[in-house]
Amino acid sequence: MATHCSILAWEIPWTEEPGGLYPRDSQASSPTPQFKSINSSFEHSLALPFFGIGIKTDLFQSYKHFAFLNFFFSDMIQERNAIVGERYRWPHTIPYVLDDSLEMNARGVILKAFERYRLKSCIDFKPWSGEPNYISVFKGNGCWSSVGKQLTRMQQLSIGEGCDRIATVQHEFLHALGFWHEQSRSDRDDYVSIIWDRIISGKERNFDSYDDQVIDSMNVPYDYSSVMHYSKTAFGNGSEPTIVTRVPDFMDVIGQRMDFSDSDVLKLNQLYNCSSSLSFMESCDFELENVCGMIQSSADSADWQRLSQVSEGPESDHSNMGQCRGSGFFMHFDSSSVNEGATAILESRIFYPKRGFQCLQFFLYNSGSQDDQLNIYIREYSVAHVSSTLTLVEQIKDIPSGSWQLYHVTLNVTSKFRVVFEGVRGAGASLGGLSIDDINLSETWCPHHVWHIRNFTQLISSPSGSFFSPPFYSSKGYAFQIYLDLYSLPKIGMYFHLISGANDDQLEWPCPWQQVTMTILDQTPDIRQRMSNQRSLTTDPFLTTDNGTYFWDRPSKVGAQVIFPNGTQFYIGRGRGFPNFMTQEMLKSRDFIKGDDVYILLAVEDISHLNEQNYPLPTLDVSDLCTSFRCENDGICILQNGKAECRCRSGDDWWYMGERCEKRGSTRDTIVIATSSTAAVFALMLIITLVSVYYTRKKYRKESSSRMVNTIMENLDQAALF
Ligand SMILES: [Zn+2]
Repeated sequence: MATHCSILAWEIPWTEEPGGLYPRDSQASSPTPQFKSINSSFEHSLALPFFGIGIKTDLFQSYKHFAFLNFFFSDMIQERNAIVGERYRWPHTIPYVLDDSLEMNARGVILKAFERYRLKSCIDFKPWSGEPNYISVFKGNGCWSSVGKQLTRMQQLSIGEGCDRIATVQHEFLHALGFWHEQSRSDRDDYVSIIWDRIISGKERNFDSYDDQVIDSMNVPYDYSSVMHYSKTAFGNGSEPTIVTRVPDFMDVIGQRMDFSDSDVLKLNQLYNCSSSLSFMESCDFELENVCGMIQSSADSADWQRLSQVSEGPESDHSNMGQCRGSGFFMHFDSSSVNEGATAILESRIFYPKRGFQCLQFFLYNSGSQDDQLNIYIREYSVAHVSSTLTLVEQIKDIPSGSWQLYHVTLNVTSKFRVVFEGVRGAGASLGGLSIDDINLSETWCPHHVWHIRNFTQLISSPSGSFFSPPFYSSKGYAFQIYLDLYSLPKIGMYFHLISGANDDQLEWPCPWQQVTMTILDQTPDIRQRMSNQRSLTTDPFLTTDNGTYFWDRPSKVGAQVIFPNGTQFYIGRGRGFPNFMTQEMLKSRDFIKGDDVYILLAVEDISHLNEQNYPLPTLDVSDLCTSFRCENDGICILQNGKAECRCRSGDDWWYMGERCEKRGSTRDTIVIATSSTAAVFALMLIITLVSVYYTRKKYRKESSSRMVNTIMENLDQAALF
């Protein structure tokens, strides 16, 4: 576990995902990425150890990096590390188009990567609606991006096969925002050695560094943990490293693809003059005596105290886990000194929401009565600022005792508000009380489920048997389990399995377009500094197995029968996931394991709305009913509840509708004139703008030439989905 006392804890992240950088003639033909041991995409596999089946097919892919430096050299004078000149900066809100070519999973992952920008910087993204410049994200050959805004109206950014990983998307957009690779810095020879004779012949220029007139360090020290750094084996002609760090400890740090590093965030925010972010609201570890502006209520019977230790527990705070002498504080409600029903109320300062949805997360420790509880309220203020209303959002009961526990509470607040923590003394004996620490509040989505794994060190030191999560339900009603594969240490695998559940008769099968996001939480106190490791996969209803069945079909049909420890019989489908989700070394870095606890955050979201094509679901006998039911405007006929129906085509701002897709709708038809006159004027302007959007967009799509100057292509070598 890392500490936060005074020395920075360095993560040991992904070691796979090398890249390269070399100049390229802008007139040359489209890039030709190299694939190492490439396999067909989405090779499905099994991970059902308790069936005695354990077939695995590692799918490693590799891409080249390209950089086309011959474009802006004359301009890259003043601000460096980024391509220079204000005209190559994007506005703070970047217009984008998700091209039809993108895989479904990539679409969802790209939107999640945007959320990380919104949390950690002032960079935001919006669907393109006629702005002069925009980024078209498409599925090209590999992952690549130009550096900086290119003034080409449409600027392409490729998220190709194997690139649908959140940190890879973050990396590509950092290029687009103007950043080069970290090891291209002029001072890189002070920090890394390039071993030229281990580099694939002809690829040496990928390792060029650039004069400090070209690349600026922005007064930030060389960052081994940058998401923009190559890995140690980038462009290697063998297994020996091509980059050797001057400090050996950093060999396995370079090349991480988990999240922005602190320095990545610092540089991005400097370059774009960010002073705040869209979705971050608060992070409080109670290390400062002002307790983040929280106030004690006078309408209660006790106060929360700022402590660093309680005799009955906790022995230390959660932020530092007691590793820092003289610091390490949390807030404590001593329920042993008050009678049943007594309360202690702590209110946050006032927050001003921008997005209307929030996730509150914090760690809670119970050393009091089993019946002690924590209530979370929202105090909302009216526009007039005179009165406030208090709404109970969540009652947290049955809090396990003896360790820090992570809680998430979803809020949906649209006007200014405070968060109110109310400790309530329950019945029964109490020798301690309730403690809270490491509060984070952001306008982001909470995970749907949390898989809390305790005593992790012991578990990983003697991995035995299958290691499945408890069963969970997705919001759509699909039952699932997560499998953590500790058989192949030091690689740790993670897989998603559908299992039979109570709603199966009402659900669509094969399970269509549910995006599963699995995150191992970096428990660093401040959410802005976390580098959690996150991967997503999407259930493709068309995916078939080698015996011809649909991969994501109903588990009772295609799965195997198994038994829960309590004796309940159920069915489990095949698993799909990541054989190298994380290495054991990485897991020991940062704060992935804290207090010997690991948290795996899970979300399963329906992303079928991201599917521009509105693909029909596979059915076996569509043809009979559909032959006499013709859909217009390229709509597709499907069977739904035994009847033929049309699925109509749609785009970001247009769609077809009606029983046969005979009617066309577009945004301009449906803009609702807002209630105020200013809004009405705005809406009118919007209508005028949008009239030409669709046609212009169509025209631009045709222009998607391979005009790639100043473009960087990645050389990924990562464990892909299987
Ligand atoms: Zn790159």
